[in-house]
Amino acid sequence: MTVVINRSDLWDSAAHFQPDETYVQHHQHPQPNLFVKPFQFIPHFPSQKSPSIATARVPYNLESIKPPPQFAEGQLQGQFDVIDTVTPNPHDSSVVHDKYWCQRRRLFSRFDAGIQLDAEGWYSVTPEVIADHVAQRVANMAKPIVQARNDGYGIVIMDAFCGCGGNSVAFGKIDPSLVSRVVCVDTDRTKLMKAAHNASLYGIPTNKLIFIECNSSFILKYCYKNGQFILDQPARELPKYMPKPVQMTRHAGYRIGGLDLLPRRIDAVFMDPPWGGVDYEVFGKNGYDLKKNMRIRISPEEDEYEADGDGFGDDFFDTFSTPTNNTKMSQKARKANFNKCAEGDYIDGMEMLKVAAEATASRIVLYDLPRNTNKVSLGLSAYEAGYKGNIKLEEHYLNGRLKTVTAYMGAEYSGLINDHNNGKCAAEGQP
Ligand code: SAH
Repeated sequence: MTVVINRSDLWDSAAHFQPDETYVQHHQHPQPNLFVKPFQFIPHFPSQKSPSIATARVPYNLESIKPPPQFAEGQLQGQFDVIDTVTPNPHDSSVVHDKYWCQRRRLFSRFDAGIQLDAEGWYSVTPEVIADHVAQRVANMAKPIVQARNDGYGIVIMDAFCGCGGNSVAFGKIDPSLVSRVVCVDTDRTKLMKAAHNASLYGIPTNKLIFIECNSSFILKYCYKNGQFILDQPARELPKYMPKPVQMTRHAGYRIGGLDLLPRRIDAVFMDPPWGGVDYEVFGKNGYDLKKNMRIRISPEEDEYEADGDGFGDDFFDTFSTPTNNTKMSQKARKANFNKCAEGDYIDGMEMLKVAAEATASRIVLYDLPRNTNKVSLGLSAYEAGYKGNIKLEEHYLNGRLKTVTAYMGAEYSGLINDHNNGKCAAEGQP
């Protein structure tokens, strides 16, 4: 098993932020900000901890990573600057930090049209250029499935941790011949309502996104096997917790409800789970272990999320770098305190990957992870989940700064290495 680490460089683009940009125009330029660097290959270095797992970094020459001319500094000036340091932050800055307010159009280019976020959403939403890039990768991974099936439909993808919809909206933009449906799951209905509203601002068709209020570990473990809906089949194993029944309503035209809205099949799963708190960086470079450090709740919560009224859930996390007041604690105490959740049952990040892989027929799973995720723990998780060969970990840089990393599983990534050996470069749009 080799974890091939690849870098993608993305840039803020003025073109992306035109207020009158229509959905159709967006479609014609699915990746206006994408710029994939050529790479060279460095030989594998097998892990000492686990000799069967190797990591291969697809390296880059940092000197040569410059924005293409159309994204150069001067082009980003104007009425709709991506970063706005002029308009005052209307929020209480202890809830929405000024630096997040300044970057709001980076989170959603249509922010000014009325995007809705809650406190957790501000910190956890995937910035739009990154979400669009990942969605384009999904479109590429969908092609062979769609061609083989040849029934005129695109794939069904589940966004298992939808939040306020950064990734779901991006999947919604993909042409329906490649992605025909996005199943957006979250335990917090208020977030799903915000995600639906946000999707409507992008003109995503109301039958393309379905919003499910449920624990996604339940859905992936008990509702699907090999891509097929199985909850109505005789059960081999009884669920320990049944989700509470929820009401079906429409919000901004989209359906929001419970298990009865689930489609008969899912083809791919995208997961951007809570990483366990803002302090995940305490484990240092390469120190976040998917098995030890990630805990995803499976038991129902006693109280509603954010019940303490301070506007922050325990597990809100950050794609940027959230303010934390834990820095005065010792490293040891921070590590010991990390992910100390309330009583309840949890599954870890390794088990979550296995459950997701087994739920789909294609085994296509995309996993958003902390940037300090230990690559061996990722390789081992993938191996335990049944993957063989290569998986890819892509680091997403926005204007030169590492923002998010996504692991792509279920496609063959030998090409990334072989192409280089044959003197070719990674083609744009390669899965
Ligand atoms: N990718 C999203 C952000 C996801 S944040 C975006 O770009 O907007 C993680 C989300 O997972 C939160 O909204 C939280 O409510 C949800 N969540 C936490 N535990 C969950 C579970 N067990 N099942 C489903 N959703 C869960």
